[in-house]
Amino acid sequence: MKINNCLWCESGSLLPVAKRKDGIIVVCCQNCRLIMLSEIPENISEDYNKEDYFNGEKISENVGYNENYDLTSPIYLYWQKLLLLTSLRSATYDRFLEIGCATGSLLQMLQEENIPDNEYFGIDISNFAINIAKQKKLNVELVSIEEFRSEKKFDVIFSVETMEHVENLKTYIKSIKENLNENGIFLFYIPSVKIEEIEKYNDDYKPFSVNFEHILYFTKEFIENELSRYFDTSISVYEFSIGSDTSTLGFITKSYEQKELFNELLQCVSKEKIEDEKNKSSEFLFQASVLSAKFGKYQFAESLLEKSCIVCSDPSRTTFFFGLVSFMKGELYKAKQYFLQSFQGKPIENTSLKIFYGIENALLKYNENLIKNIGVGYTVKRKRKLMKILFATYFFRDK
Ligand SMILES: [Zn+2]
Repeated sequence: MKINNCLWCESGSLLPVAKRKDGIIVVCCQNCRLIMLSEIPENISEDYNKEDYFNGEKISENVGYNENYDLTSPIYLYWQKLLLLTSLRSATYDRFLEIGCATGSLLQMLQEENIPDNEYFGIDISNFAINIAKQKKLNVELVSIEEFRSEKKFDVIFSVETMEHVENLKTYIKSIKENLNENGIFLFYIPSVKIEEIEKYNDDYKPFSVNFEHILYFTKEFIENELSRYFDTSISVYEFSIGSDTSTLGFITKSYEQKELFNELLQCVSKEKIEDEKNKSSEFLFQASVLSAKFGKYQFAESLLEKSCIVCSDPSRTTFFFGLVSFMKGELYKAKQYFLQSFQGKPIENTSLKIFYGIENALLKYNENLIKNIGVGYTVKRKRKLMKILFATYFFRDK
């Protein structure tokens, strides 16, 4: 199908910016700055029904997942998806829809967190993926968001790496707006493209030589101007660089509380460039754990912290996290062993500093209940000090 008018604003002013490796010309709308294919390959969505798209075999060199999606996505998508768990658990938000849920990795995580079945839903256009999700007894439906109908609206709508596959962006975004509660939140995660980089690299621009199933490419200008105008509220956009790829995580909500919570979470993880996806997950999980505790969700905070250890690839950091988990569980001897092991061979000053940091984090941000039970009558600040001294004595009494 030849594209003569912009898939968002319908402007006919489309200028070629590059040629993909599959020969398709990529154009940029001069009105709204959406970048799209000048021609959509026939039956492009049929590939999503094939097992090879998901199992790592791939449809062709540039179409399909490099690894088995169902096995690897729970690790690679963990931190994006974690946002949802945090939002679902930390506020009054409880009805959730994932657009493009594939085999249901995220929904499965919600299921494991004992979130009631009637609160989360997933939709996808892949018959193959939906069948796998159904085998997991998840609430999923084989339908596109454009055709999806629900009696009740949703508090959270999430779309991970889905928007770039969409043919009719206008109806897609319209359906999201219609299905979202007044104070709900729409979160999306998409690959980033930059106009100045396209101008620099032209046909060799990396996003144009991978994932030939992508139809749309989103610039920051488009997201910030067009989507915020459409939803009638400001939009928060964060960029993440993982290896050589850059992705954008954005969210739209009219709720002040949700805006604050997500900005805090995302600022934590977007601060530094993380080369390794697993460490990013680990850091994100750690931060989310701290935040969950702040919202009084101690049990959830503990489970997040445990997951943070599991996905971390730096052994010293993992051990440190395990120390924190043990500490929080009140297993002090075990915690001490982990902490000492974590800083083996490092200067003692550094070690003690880090342990203090860990304890302080644990006490201040994580297990406030612990502090409450100690030194009744003390102010929080004095309790902190007291706890620091107690634990410093405990950890270093052998020395
Ligand atoms: Zn346009």
